[in-house]
Amino acid sequence: MENTKQKEFLPNPVVLQSQELYEYILATSVYPREAEPLKELREATANNPRAIFGTSPDAGQLMAMLLKLVNAKKTIEVGVFTGYSLLLTALTIPDDGKITAIDVDRKTYETIGLPIIKKAGVEHKINFIESQALPVLDELLEDPKNEGSFDFGFVDADKGNYWNYHERMMKLVKVGGMVIYDNTLWGGYVALPEEDVPETKKAWRQSTIEFNISISVDPRVEISHASVGDGILICKRIC
Ligand code: SAH
Ligand code: CA
Repeated sequence: MENTKQKEFLPNPVVLQSQELYEYILATSVYPREAEPLKELREATANNPRAIFGTSPDAGQLMAMLLKLVNAKKTIEVGVFTGYSLLLTALTIPDDGKITAIDVDRKTYETIGLPIIKKAGVEHKINFIESQALPVLDELLEDPKNEGSFDFGFVDADKGNYWNYHERMMKLVKVGGMVIYDNTLWGGYVALPEEDVPETKKAWRQSTIEFNISISVDPRVEISHASVGDGILICKRIC
């Protein structure tokens, strides 16, 4: 299933196994509507050795629509990197909205994303916290005011911890709110036999498989596993 041609050409991981069809979707429906600052950030990220981390623009477009559908104002993001999904969220929520954004690495965000975010005039919506995500989520939960106070969460870091993040998100995000988990199809490797998976992909493939099963039987959420980008699991908290 691996398509090396695809990986060579595309700046982001994609699970759609047709290069031509993916380019068609981007060219027809995504790029013509992608905001200028997002284009700029995507291009500024393209030369980074870890550019593959950036959220795929087609997944971003769906995320922006969902942010609007739930009228998200207060959001939380785990995993910022250069800031594509963060800027997308900041451009989408209202002017008095707030994003709590967590990443262990401030430098990549500050050198690549922040200048573009400032220029776009949305920096005031962002509270960036440089830290491991779990302790920050636990600290937020120590204040009962934060429980059920977030409208939306985006989780895109540290795949081995997704279930731990989910447990916290189910308390932080309100009933009716939404949480999206990124890379849940893991380049398509979730559906391949383990012997066909490169060594470096095995550990998080296994965590992703387990996470997807656990979510599928979690009665707290309604889900949709969308095969955009590298797969996103969309969860709506229902109780
Ligand atoms: N959403 C980003 C991509 C995130 S890539 C975008 O759209 O571009 C994953 C990020 O998670 C990396 O920047 C990495 O520094 C961060 N990360 C990895 N482990 C982490 C952890 N335990 N806690 C917080 N951030 C972490
Ligand atoms: Ca990602």
